[in-house]
Amino acid sequence: MLNLVLFGPPGAGKGTQSEKLISHYGLVHISTGDVFRFNIKNETELGKLAKSYMDKGELVPDEVTINMLGAEVEKNSDAKGFIFDGFPRTSAQAAALDELLAGKGTSVSMMVALDVPEEELKTRLMKRAEVSGRADDADPAVIQNRIDVYNAQTAPVAEFYKGQGKLRLVNGVGTIDEIFGRICEAMDKG
Ligand code: AMP
Repeated sequence: MLNLVLFGPPGAGKGTQSEKLISHYGLVHISTGDVFRFNIKNETELGKLAKSYMDKGELVPDEVTINMLGAEVEKNSDAKGFIFDGFPRTSAQAAALDELLAGKGTSVSMMVALDVPEEELKTRLMKRAEVSGRADDADPAVIQNRIDVYNAQTAPVAEFYKGQGKLRLVNGVGTIDEIFGRICEAMDKG
């Protein structure tokens, strides 16, 4: 199986690049943010809980997120591989993903980390707010908190994969196609 962790701060372009990667590599895309938003839209219990964290730019608790991710993986038992987008975001989630995949006789193949300067992230998120309808994109204080949470809790996850020799840093500034080309190059090199 080819299992890609697509990593980077909010606004780095993970969702945009995932769309292109899905068709190119034939992988199943799991975006934990998308699953939470789907649950919010459908007013499920999970959605109500997730919303209370997402509106503030905080992380949804690990136990809830890990269980949800496990269920999404199980729904796709015939997948030839996955793109994990927005997961793992904590060290506990990274350890849980390793365990989950080991139980299926597979593992994370690589982490592609998109590198984008903070000012550029803020500009992109404010622009995205005009079309995404996402409350967490529209409020500068929430954007700042998401970036701070990323730096404090999520950025260290890259070290976990670096230690396993699986981290590939990719410049996330440029056109969508330029960045896609860089990701493919990193993936095809292995
Ligand atoms: P995203 O769509 O990836 O930008 O995620 C939007 C929001 O969903 C985040 O700010 C978090 O509140 C929540 N979220 C998404 N993925 C995770 C995760 N792996 N762990 C905890 N919270 C998450």
